Amino acid sequence: MKTILSSFVFTALIGSAAVAQQDTSMLDRIYKTSFYDGQAYDNLRYLTKEIGHRIAGSKRAEEAVLWSKKLMEEMAFNTVYLQDVQVPYWDRGMKEEAYVLPSREPLQVLALGGSVGTGNSGLSAEVLEVELLSDLKKHGDAVRGKIVFVNKPWDESIVETGAAYGLNSSQRSRGPAEVAKLGGVAYLFRSLSSSRIDDYPHTGGTRYVEGIDSIPALAISAVGAIRLSEILKENPKSKVFIRNTSQWNGVANSHNVIAEWRGTEKPDEIITIGGHIDSWDIGEGAHDNGTGTMGTLDAIRTLMKLGYKPKHTIRLVFYMNEENGVNGSMKYGETAKAKNERIVAAIESDAGGFAPRGFDIKASAEQVQWIQKEWKPLFEEKFWVSRFLQGSPGVDSGVWGRHFPNTIMFNFRPDPHRYFDLHHTAKDVFEAVDKRELQSGVAAIASLLYLVDQQLDLLQ
Ligand SMILES: [Zn+2]
Repeated sequence: MKTILSSFVFTALIGSAAVAQQDTSMLDRIYKTSFYDGQAYDNLRYLTKEIGHRIAGSKRAEEAVLWSKKLMEEMAFNTVYLQDVQVPYWDRGMKEEAYVLPSREPLQVLALGGSVGTGNSGLSAEVLEVELLSDLKKHGDAVRGKIVFVNKPWDESIVETGAAYGLNSSQRSRGPAEVAKLGGVAYLFRSLSSSRIDDYPHTGGTRYVEGIDSIPALAISAVGAIRLSEILKENPKSKVFIRNTSQWNGVANSHNVIAEWRGTEKPDEIITIGGHIDSWDIGEGAHDNGTGTMGTLDAIRTLMKLGYKPKHTIRLVFYMNEENGVNGSMKYGETAKAKNERIVAAIESDAGGFAPRGFDIKASAEQVQWIQKEWKPLFEEKFWVSRFLQGSPGVDSGVWGRHFPNTIMFNFRPDPHRYFDLHHTAKDVFEAVDKRELQSGVAAIASLLYLVDQQLDLLQ
């Protein structure tokens, strides 16, 4: 009995060693192909330089859709198609203007996504500065007629910059309604920037509440916020002039772009991979999210180039309208649910194209432990990819995932230090992306996709 057991254990060990060896050599080949032959960087150049930024509903967003579809059609996918999505179309209008009165010292501002305009003549008013929206209650009637300036600095001590972003971002979305409720005339929000020496304003979505007046809402650069605060300390009666002409232009027809690489063993089981193709309407949408779309596409291209045959169907999805509505991921989820599809795993890339660090995983604690034990060693020493932690799945996967609560989801995590310096600004351009870092991320994603496809059954 003892001998039989030992020989069984021995065989199992040899088997798993062989599998690990096979995985190690596959990962080596993936990394080599990505570094020597990757096309993510060149594709990103086209997306950012030839097409440019691409807010949902715009002509450029549709250009990006049609170009992406063509890219996918040139690959060995079995099917490529567009999925209709209705999106709201918001237009920024003329370049925003803001300055202090009476000095006319300029302030760098950007309308928040979804903001109404001030009209061509602009508006000027005294400014009430607070750190938190909840402080407004203390000021009672003093809010009436004022521009409310929320000046909450970024917590620079938090290395996971996404968490620092999360601490302040709800003030961006809730601000205009809370200020309008108390009679404020406009909302000025300190940009969500990881740097105090940043004079670029960062846009991002905001929202209004039905039944409460919609007031203009603008982001001010971190440098501008610090300066305005100093001016208000010297002269609390200073006024600020702002002008923006942004407006909503109804609903537009748009699309998700989808491509499928049919599985050879389990074609009805789908692994969804991708990111959002839209961007804010400034900069070039390079890190957010050109790298995520071009990177996931190139991860699949890398596996194709190596002659890989997937067991499961691999479905690449470029979602429309993540930035101001998530209508693309809602449509994707509703459609997949209505068709009763079996989406067994998902990978999303929407955190920039910096050097890869790992993946956040939406799965049970046991599943994450298994991944840490079996997969993490394949990445850690050689490729410097070591973060495999339970976490959130990414915005788009999170939205459609409400229909698929049991799907294991992976959220690509590159180095977080510089992302929120560029995020939603004019600085998010092609030149801010490093080719080697990007292709290293492509290799990490392709490696994960390979492991998920090969070993998903062991995980479940
Ligand atoms: Zn994004």
